[in-house]
Amino acid sequence: STFDEMGIRDDLLRGIYAYGFEKPSAIQQRAVLPIIKGRDVIAQAQSGTGKTSMIALTVCQMVDTSSREVQALILSPTRELAAQTEKVILAIGDFINIQAHACIGGKSVGEDIRKLEYGVHVVSGTPGRVCDMIKRRTLRTRAIKLLVLDESDEMLSRGFKDQIYDVYRYLPPELQVDWLTEKMRSHNFTVSSMHGDMPQRERD
Ligand code: AMP
Repeated sequence: STFDEMGIRDDLLRGIYAYGFEKPSAIQQRAVLPIIKGRDVIAQAQSGTGKTSMIALTVCQMVDTSSREVQALILSPTRELAAQTEKVILAIGDFINIQAHACIGGKSVGEDIRKLEYGVHVVSGTPGRVCDMIKRRTLRTRAIKLLVLDESDEMLSRGFKDQIYDVYRYLPPELQVDWLTEKMRSHNFTVSSMHGDMPQRERD
């Protein structure tokens, strides 16, 4: 299949082609459509197979850029990955004027506050800093409709579980959750337990 057949908006297609992609990679062929149709997807892919680009493209397709609210949140286990994802979102989404921000430890909180108050469509971050920004009410979660857990196996094994749950409790009830993982079978969790494990949300 081709990117044209995926129902992707024209100005985003331009960004994808301008970025140098001609056709979707295997993971993109399988997971882009279900994600942009709003499904909760669990996708397993090795790094370097087009996973980050897939996140960027699906997130760009799904946000309404006429609103300045955060609509998609991507959590990653490392600052480098979170920053890389932000970079690819900004590149692919150039023609749709996407506003994205990497919310990661080690960068100034002032910069987070400035960007988030200005208004961004997408936040890509590490669980600790994102959680912090939510609790300060700098990162408003009201309009978030999509949560992407990148390298979810890695995040759970690195002990981010409590922070992820903490973030999740602040997100709206109608939430799409997409899990990306490299090594599904090396951990003791299954599709149902990953969902069943999620805590109840707090009411605003
Ligand atoms: P990623 O896993 O998204 O970081 O992608 C790994 C490498 O493959 C990066 O250099 C991407 O720019 C490139 N890439 C991802 N998707 C595609 C695609 N559909 N066509 C060509 N290159 C791609």
